[in-house]
Amino acid sequence: MLKTNMCGKLNIKNIDENVILAGWVSRRRDHGGLTFIDLRDSSGIIQIVIKNQDLNLNEDEINRIRNEWVLIVEGRVVIRQKGTENSSMLTGNIEVQVKNITIANQSKTPPFPINEEINIEETNRMQYRYLDLRRSKMLSNIKLRHEIIHFIRNFLHDEEFIEIETPILNVATPEGARDYLVPSRVHPGKFYALPQSPQQWKQLLMVSGFEKYFQIARCFRDEDLRSDRQPEFTQLDIEMSFVEQDDILQLTENLMTAMVKKINPAFQFKNPFPVITYANSIEMYGTDKPDIRFNLPIRDLSAIFANTSIKIFQNILESKNRIRGISIPNGASLNKKQIQVFNDIAINLGAKGIASIKLEDSFESNSPSSKDISSLLKDYINDEELKHLIDTLESKSGDLILISGGDETLTSEILGAVRVEAASNMKLINEDQLGFCFVTEFPMFEFSESENRWTAMHHLFTMPYLSDIELIQDNPSKVRSHAYDLVCNGQEIGSGSIRIHESALLLQILEKLGFDKADAEKQFAHMLNAFDFGAPPHGGIAPGIDRIVAMLAKETDIREVIAFPKTKTAADLLTGAPSEIDQKFLDELKLKINLTDN
Ligand code: ASP
Repeated sequence: MLKTNMCGKLNIKNIDENVILAGWVSRRRDHGGLTFIDLRDSSGIIQIVIKNQDLNLNEDEINRIRNEWVLIVEGRVVIRQKGTENSSMLTGNIEVQVKNITIANQSKTPPFPINEEINIEETNRMQYRYLDLRRSKMLSNIKLRHEIIHFIRNFLHDEEFIEIETPILNVATPEGARDYLVPSRVHPGKFYALPQSPQQWKQLLMVSGFEKYFQIARCFRDEDLRSDRQPEFTQLDIEMSFVEQDDILQLTENLMTAMVKKINPAFQFKNPFPVITYANSIEMYGTDKPDIRFNLPIRDLSAIFANTSIKIFQNILESKNRIRGISIPNGASLNKKQIQVFNDIAINLGAKGIASIKLEDSFESNSPSSKDISSLLKDYINDEELKHLIDTLESKSGDLILISGGDETLTSEILGAVRVEAASNMKLINEDQLGFCFVTEFPMFEFSESENRWTAMHHLFTMPYLSDIELIQDNPSKVRSHAYDLVCNGQEIGSGSIRIHESALLLQILEKLGFDKADAEKQFAHMLNAFDFGAPPHGGIAPGIDRIVAMLAKETDIREVIAFPKTKTAADLLTGAPSEIDQKFLDELKLKINLTDN
């Protein structure tokens, strides 16, 4: 090694030791004949002190040293003089007096400062990602990622899981997201697909008898990107045989609990993780990804307005829709602009707006009166309706009530988004809290308007409730499945399910999804065949590693915890991927590019 010690690991016990350090110049300060350099390596930073006259380099050479140059220095660890300690550095009470310096490499001036936490333009960061990763926040995010993966491997190993790699070059799947395709040279005109997940492989491994599998699996989906999506991402893929839903949920909870306690014990969360059915989640939180760190439940208000004179509510109820709402404690203190945001949310999602009722300070819960409210409904809502409203929503003076109604899905979306906005406005979220929960009993099917057919809500290998199988034919939207999500802080952290393990049932589901029998038998031959050779009952889950790391690093964008992410347009600005391909490679693949507009 070119060094004897790591900069960030030196401490008072090393005093008087002769050490060789190697790293980058993080910062330099000149004090006439004395040069102070913060030397940085992957472990941290130490101050080194260069007395210009007693060195192997002359003064000019020392003066030329700039930030990000690479130095190898030999020197003695000493205690810093009283009054010169730096409590913001872990090594702030010591320094190294340099005797010998080697300049191992020089550096151009970096395109952005490495030693300051400032906002840097995204494209700059991506283009020079190797420099971006030198910044201390990025270094610690990537180290955290390693710690988490290391923990997972140990945990699952101790639980007798075995890690098995599965192929990256796969057959294209007709279901799910869009595949990334790879042309085959050996089979001209044919394509491999990159795995959207190792779903089928892990099920085949269960048929093989492994019983407890996991993999830190890279997955690829050609989807439109958001802050929590990347074209390639990493899942902790888990599958077990002879399990029921509760076994997978328990394993997941044990793993997450132990992981958070080890990685960052400052986070608070509740065990057992609450289990909320999909239907209840939509009803109470307006979403299947509920943020349960705050309460603000959505309530059904339809009965309250059964005989209302409020025209718009009458219309909603007459068209057999419901009226729902939430109450924001102390929400009356929000200003006009903040309340307008709730209305904008509703409008942006496609509604006409949202009704609001401010309960003024003069409002009395015992004798509610519309004279003590501020609302466009003031002249129309009667005191009895008000009384029921505040009883149902448990509101009191100073609260703000928001009411929406009409199309079920739209109302849920609006109130779900309003709920999250209100929590953030009212500062109801404790950033040190993790709101873990499981959402269960997802519907098996959802109707896709764009494809005009039923699609699998989780995926087609998900086991429907056996008691609901008779509904598949005529009432598919009512079929529940053994699919579940791990949710935290309003984000889906992972999905899983108990799987179908019999070919007849798989064929029945495929048929419902619009496959004709011959097609289904061809495209899923490998799974159907495998299930006919004693496939055990099995199930699994796949939490997203990127999301877990981001959550524990308190980052909102998963790109902050991925070493080399893509931009929102799936480009790699560092290497230039995707790129055009040399004609000779296309010739080898016997492919011709013919770009069309659609
Ligand atoms: N393969 C599934 C997915 O990627 C997860 C699972 O069911 O285990 O969503």
